[in-house]
Amino acid sequence: MAPPFDPFLIAHQLDPRIFDICWGLSPVSIRDQMMRGRTVADRLADLDYVHRDAPLLVVGAGVSGVTAALTAALHGVPTTLVEASSEPFGVQAACDTRYLHPSQYDWPLPHWREDTFPPPSHAPANPLPLRYAAGIASNLVPYWSDTLQKIGDVLGDDLLRVCYGVKPRDVVGTEDMAQCDFDCEPWAKKRPAHKAFRAIISAAGFGSERVQARKDPKAFASLRFWERDNLESLKGLDSPRVIIGGGGDGALQDFIRVASGFPSAKALLEYLHLQDKPRFWLWRETILAAEDQAQRASAWAGSEADDHVIQSRLHAVHREAVQSLFGSLPSLAEQLNSLLEKRPYKSLTLVHPCTHFAQSYALNRALVCILQEALHREPGRGRVKVLSNCGIDDVECAGCPAPPQASRCVGNPHQVHLKLKECANSGKRHETLEADVVVLRLGIDNGVQPLFGMRPGGGARRQLLPYFPVP
Ligand SMILES: Cc1cc2nc3c(=O)[nH]c(=O)nc-3n(C[C@H](O)[C@H](O)[C@H](O)COP(=O)(O)OP(=O)(O)OC[C@H]3O[C@@H](n4cnc5c(N)ncnc54)[C@H](O)[C@@H]3O)c2cc1C
Repeated sequence: MAPPFDPFLIAHQLDPRIFDICWGLSPVSIRDQMMRGRTVADRLADLDYVHRDAPLLVVGAGVSGVTAALTAALHGVPTTLVEASSEPFGVQAACDTRYLHPSQYDWPLPHWREDTFPPPSHAPANPLPLRYAAGIASNLVPYWSDTLQKIGDVLGDDLLRVCYGVKPRDVVGTEDMAQCDFDCEPWAKKRPAHKAFRAIISAAGFGSERVQARKDPKAFASLRFWERDNLESLKGLDSPRVIIGGGGDGALQDFIRVASGFPSAKALLEYLHLQDKPRFWLWRETILAAEDQAQRASAWAGSEADDHVIQSRLHAVHREAVQSLFGSLPSLAEQLNSLLEKRPYKSLTLVHPCTHFAQSYALNRALVCILQEALHREPGRGRVKVLSNCGIDDVECAGCPAPPQASRCVGNPHQVHLKLKECANSGKRHETLEADVVVLRLGIDNGVQPLFGMRPGGGARRQLLPYFPVP
């Protein structure tokens, strides 16, 4: 049977029977991962690839795996969901300091403030199995776990078998079936009932986050994105010097949280009340058009050099649009700088490795450009800096037990060595900064192999997913 998917459309097809839904140059948001899980399971069922007598295996009980497994089981497909750890949604369960919002990053589209996904205005005929409402990450988990449990109880073990402490091994995909064995922890209560499946969906996550400037077990490691932090309150720290390294969404998001004290980009934009101001609509339209063009171009970019051109253009449009917005709003710089002045840090520096940010959400980019412009207009007041064309070469922590780890050395003095950097090209070390809090958001480790087979190489771009389920 011919493969039903264009691998770059929804899932990356590793074998005729194996579909990977955790791929891309950078991690895809929870909302998009739900869309991938739902869409891929729907398609497999609609195409009769999996059905009553053709079972499905889903690997990984994060939001994408659970969404895929529930969707398939609700189609009447016998589905086995295996999870290596002892609980579902472990990534979010461990984090009680990060505020999640399902639509904020769709800004500047009109639905960006909707607190639930899908919003009532786009309620699909078949709702997604997990309801996603804005909130602190760990607070969302009990509801999702409860939903998984309840639907599992209703469908029964023959339709949805959820096995914790279980990992597949020796996976082989053939034209007709995918087969594997399983490694089960001694404490695993339930084991899979089959070893052969008509298809496997791999939803095992995006790999490890890079939180070290150099790969060395003795090198400083920053707090991870999904670890508990105190970046908004900076509680317990005495006027700290904060450095954030990276130019993607993780770095921009944390820069916004530290700079403003707001838990989310959405909260900062709402605080500015821009929608009531002159030139707002022109700014919005300009960003909308530039983002659309950049997304389309990125999907077809063939090299890092292409990415550099696309991101440079996009960044230039953002900077110019923000300058024009400030031109019509003389009070904006004052409003922002007085907000930043009240924050309890001694200094805050974002260090990013080119003239532009990496591919990132429009809202994060726009807000950092707004903060930058405010600082540029009142430089005397700034304790906040954005340093472009800089990579973090190394971080040395004074007085921490080795190996230095941010969870233990937040607040201790660090030396942060910078090197010149432009996209993929690194130059010499050129400056050293002092910091008490160092946050490294350096992307995900592209060297990490997927669970099975190979992931696509340079073509693994962020894909254009629908905003809401269809139908
Ligand atoms: C640095 C960073 C920043 C991010 N920022 C945001 C953000 O601001 N907003 C947002 O919405 N999303 C963000 N994301 C993305 C978010 O983490 C994912 O979308 C989300 O976790 C859902 O992913 P998932 O279910 O596909 O995978 P995960 O949540 O990673 O779940 C994968 C599951 O698979 C299990 N597993 C792994 N290997 C095996 C195996 N061999 N056998 C069985 N089970 C296995 C794991 O234990 C885990 O439970 C970010 C991600 C990163 C890394």
